[in-house]
Amino acid sequence: MIPYGRHHISDADVAAVVDVLRSDFLTQGPAVPQFESAVAKGCGAEYAVAVNSATSALHVACLALGVKPGDRVWTSPITFVASANCALYCGATVDFVDVDPRTGNMSPQCLATKLQEAEREGTLPKVVIPVHLCGQPCEMGLIAGLARKYGFSVIEDASHAIGAKYRGEPVGNCRYSDVTVFSFHPVKIVTTGEGGMAVTRDPKLARSMQLLRSHGITRESGEMTHSPDGSWYYQQIALGYNYRMTDLQAALGASQLKRLGAVVEQRHKIASSYDRMLEPLPVAPLWQHPDTFSAYHLYVIRLVPSVSRRSHREVFEAMRAKGIGVNLHYIPVHCQPYYRSLGFKIGQFPIAEQYYQEAITIPIYPTLTSDERRLVVDSLAACLNE
Ligand SMILES: *Cc1c(COP(=O)(O)O)cnc(C)c1O
Repeated sequence: MIPYGRHHISDADVAAVVDVLRSDFLTQGPAVPQFESAVAKGCGAEYAVAVNSATSALHVACLALGVKPGDRVWTSPITFVASANCALYCGATVDFVDVDPRTGNMSPQCLATKLQEAEREGTLPKVVIPVHLCGQPCEMGLIAGLARKYGFSVIEDASHAIGAKYRGEPVGNCRYSDVTVFSFHPVKIVTTGEGGMAVTRDPKLARSMQLLRSHGITRESGEMTHSPDGSWYYQQIALGYNYRMTDLQAALGASQLKRLGAVVEQRHKIASSYDRMLEPLPVAPLWQHPDTFSAYHLYVIRLVPSVSRRSHREVFEAMRAKGIGVNLHYIPVHCQPYYRSLGFKIGQFPIAEQYYQEAITIPIYPTLTSDERRLVVDSLAACLNE
């Protein structure tokens, strides 16, 4: 089976982890701040807070922005469930903004319309979480404009998009958002096994997320209610969690990060070759907005239902039967039984639901050979016809 994605571990990655194994600190040592600095530097953010997953990063970002019961958080229905669950963890309610059919990203037009209605009804969101689907940044200029107009905060879910650029600048510099979140799960572009990071320009948000990732405990006397009882002393000043990244993970991440540029370049090469090879087939790759440079975490095609002789499901199953590990990103979140139980209805976000009827993720990862690409495309051509 050719998988849809595959992590890559180099000898240097292995050596970096072994170095930590033989060092004094497996966790809470120097490798975590080193990895944080490297990510912050790479994406032009001031502050980076490493945590044990992007899910945790989304949670502490919401908490740091003050999300609480009674608040509303909006995200895209075409995402992994974690982008929405983070708001529920804080006791807030979730709603969705339908997507642009060409990219699968949150539609700024749908967002503008929904904000107008929400303003009339007094139901404006506290936070909006655009998701950079497949690694392509959302139209952040427009979203940031709406954020200023309506007074909400923005968290970019860039789980797919480390190494991507928007208007020529790296995703993660937070020019258009309060916090940006990356995932280092093995299916993503850079991996730490499990792991995530929240980056920001705001020192207060950064400090708040640092406290929340480690029990709400401080050792800074300036943050304490009174001067320390002694050199052993610490205080818990907030209700935090154990969301820490280990030094083993951070060392792996820092080693992987050195290849980020080359990895994204190789992903672009593969994507362009797919673009060319797929042209004669009745399928449409996702459109790339001219303001964006995707990290190409995923390569998604959409079947053109009027032209294709086989149904979406038939093509999908036939591809798997031929050993091509296609996938589907994503089942719209509001269609999940848990979200249905919260009152969401099928038909509520029609563009997202249509997208789900047509999208297929085909394999992309840096070590995918040109022969394998050819096999993917030939298999697809056969599956569309047979
Ligand atoms: C993978 C992913 C997450 C969650 O990342 P974890 O590191 O596994 O917690 C969140 N949002 C999106 C869009 C993702 O793809």
